[in-house]
Amino acid sequence: MEFPFDISPMYEGERIRKQDMYVELGGPTQPGFELVISASPDEIEDMNFTLIGPDISEMEEGKAYPYAMIYRIAGKQVEKDLEPVVERRNHDFQNYIEGYMHLNQRYDIWIRISKSAVKKGLNSFEQIAKATMMLFKNELPFIEKIDATYITDREEVEKRLQETMKIYEERDLRTLSLHDEDVEEFYSCTLCQSFAPTNVCVIAPDRVSLCGAITWFDGRASAKVDPEGPNAPIPKGELVDEIGGEYTGVNEFAKERSGGEYDRIKLHSFFEFPHTSCGCFEVIGFYMPEVDGIGWVHRGYDEPAPNGLTFSTMAGQTGGGKQVVGFLGIGIGYFKSPKFIQADGGWKRTVWMPKSLKERVLEFIPDEMKDKIATEEDAGTIDELKEFLKKVNHPVVTGVVRDIDGAKITDGWVEEKEEEAPIEAPAETGKVQETPAMQQIQPGQIPVFTPQPVMNPVSGGGIKLVIKNAKINIEKIVVSKKDS
Ligand code: SF4
Repeated sequence: MEFPFDISPMYEGERIRKQDMYVELGGPTQPGFELVISASPDEIEDMNFTLIGPDISEMEEGKAYPYAMIYRIAGKQVEKDLEPVVERRNHDFQNYIEGYMHLNQRYDIWIRISKSAVKKGLNSFEQIAKATMMLFKNELPFIEKIDATYITDREEVEKRLQETMKIYEERDLRTLSLHDEDVEEFYSCTLCQSFAPTNVCVIAPDRVSLCGAITWFDGRASAKVDPEGPNAPIPKGELVDEIGGEYTGVNEFAKERSGGEYDRIKLHSFFEFPHTSCGCFEVIGFYMPEVDGIGWVHRGYDEPAPNGLTFSTMAGQTGGGKQVVGFLGIGIGYFKSPKFIQADGGWKRTVWMPKSLKERVLEFIPDEMKDKIATEEDAGTIDELKEFLKKVNHPVVTGVVRDIDGAKITDGWVEEKEEEAPIEAPAETGKVQETPAMQQIQPGQIPVFTPQPVMNPVSGGGIKLVIKNAKINIEKIVVSKKDS
């Protein structure tokens, strides 16, 4: 088949702005998903394409439409565990197509086709599907046969999406009975290095990938068929920090594959050597120093969180493949892990999530925390959140104990007593005293957290310190009154 567009990895970074788009598919306003399932070779007519719903040529310029892409694959080496890994490659391969932009994954897909591509002759989904299937077969030779069904009919997309959500759920649940300590190897994923060059995803039984698409089983299946590919085995090595989830093998691997950008990763830590975030995360965790707690917001939630920031604003701070203290990208499946940010108090440190996200993971929230985590219905601002947390006696109010390198550290609200603290309390943090977690935050990265100067209560004057893009680690501060 002749294609009216170029196909090359050089188009991976191509962005199509609203004014340049012909149509949008899926995305924030329309349902959509992508799915790869394995099938028997006899069921598949190789490279066959079926479209249910209107084609590109029948779509109105400037409009958004529902969109589903379903591929069936077969081959001697094809097994069920490979489905999610192959599915994740749809993102890569479709971005090789000139004039076609693919973002996100699973039920979050967001596609744009450019006006110039349509002008050059891109007028049918068959052209897209055939090019994508060709890339699947060329790049992943274990796929011997493939077919594709694309759907743009709203009713059909909505119906199939419900069935597909169950498939995603079943995939995620497979790892629940397997834990980090039960295996000798974890698996990497470096697919997103094309846009976040230092990002190394470490996929462990207790930590699904941050895009949510790849579990430990999927990483293992992929490494088996393509050990030199993006999902390489990572021998765990020695355990350095059981609670944080730090291993010598992971550190060595991360150092090598990140080009030395970082050399320590704690898989289950929010504040110390956190896992990097590329940009594909399903959920962002954000630290709110005013309450010394962590909030979580998912991609589908458009409203500002109590810190005043939306998902997309925070995504800019979180992504890029760096270790960013104060923000963390995760997959929704990580909420189901018994090791969920256990180094920082886990659920006891969680103070806010959108209602729809909370409902989705409700059965994994410990019973005693279910009513203590606020949603947008309880708190829309930091002040409202403070009130809510006090009312429900959230653990951050009374103190969350966590273990750091053998030392017990208590986080949470510590009421300052006037006579013991002859320092003017920071205006924004009120009665909350800074904890070690707060001291590690990089102020330039959290707009709502502005360290206040320590004023001299004797003279009434003082100095103003403005700290930008600095990392502060403070073990101890001694404040003493100067004799006059
Ligand atoms: S987010 Fe991580 S696991 Fe998912 S595709 Fe990107 S690198 Fe791979």
